[in-house]
Amino acid sequence: MSDDACDPPHPEPEPDQPAPGVAQAQAGLVLVSTPIGNLADFSRRAVAALEHADLVLCEDTRVTSRLLLAYGISTRTAPLHEHNEDSRIPGILAMLRAGKSVALVSDAGTPLVSDPGYRLVRAAIAEDLPVGGIPGPNAALLGLTLSGLPPHPFMFLGFAPPKAAARRVALAGIRAMETAGLTATLIWYEAPHRLAEFLAALAEALGPRPAAVARELTKRFEEVRRAPLDVLAAHYAEHQARGEITVIVGPPEDSAPVAPDLDAQLEAALADHSLKEAVALVTAATGLPRKQVYARALTLGSR
Ligand code: SAM
Repeated sequence: MSDDACDPPHPEPEPDQPAPGVAQAQAGLVLVSTPIGNLADFSRRAVAALEHADLVLCEDTRVTSRLLLAYGISTRTAPLHEHNEDSRIPGILAMLRAGKSVALVSDAGTPLVSDPGYRLVRAAIAEDLPVGGIPGPNAALLGLTLSGLPPHPFMFLGFAPPKAAARRVALAGIRAMETAGLTATLIWYEAPHRLAEFLAALAEALGPRPAAVARELTKRFEEVRRAPLDVLAAHYAEHQARGEITVIVGPPEDSAPVAPDLDAQLEAALADHSLKEAVALVTAATGLPRKQVYARALTLGSR
């Protein structure tokens, strides 16, 4: 087993823990993950948490009602979305202070991940009120694991700005981070009608690097298309995408990109400083990782 291997789950429940699937009311705010397409992906703990909650906060009560109905759950629901989250917080905190159990779900997947709830969670934590979670489906993580691209480090970016100019700025920011040493697999959510345009923008900004489009995960027409960005862009320019989409892009191939002026700065610094001093000076000046600057300085020094 590698050094960084996670501890395996406990084979037996601890005496003070519920057995798997045993219903237990959990006082406080409980973030409950729901399916991203396949209703069967709803855990027994998730069902129990919603059954025993005093209130289920949901993005769209009509969407969540269908899930609750499918599982015979009759807990009261109330909407919590981008536009009412702030105004709802005081009332919810009052319930939590009174020892109630309030569950938070989104339309699909894990709450807060490109979904509402962050401000509520932050407010509950600030008052030291209990906040717990029932883990479950998430499109970004499933897409990442099915993509065949390096699973970590990864960077989840939610939805890219829909307007071309803002999107160009956002992608230039990522390129700048990569130039400074970031080598993460990148993950975005995207709407089907914007996919072709988004892939073309990605190909232009990041080059033809390996990528994947994960579509309709856990559903009947699940598909993961793996190809370089330019090939995916060309494919979706010809074939209008449908359904729900997650885009995963591999890290830059040159894992230690060299900033354009790094060599010049190092050569100038090495001319009248020791290697150690030159590395320190250039690391501070460029903001690049010290390891990268040091490795480059060694290469230049051995030429
Ligand atoms: N909280 C959710 C989660 O944990 O995955 C994501 C919510 S976000 C508002 C919805 C976006 O997630 C969709 O527009 C799509 O980009 C992505 N998504 C959701 N379900 C998906 C699926 N089944 N397959 C691929 N992508 C999906």
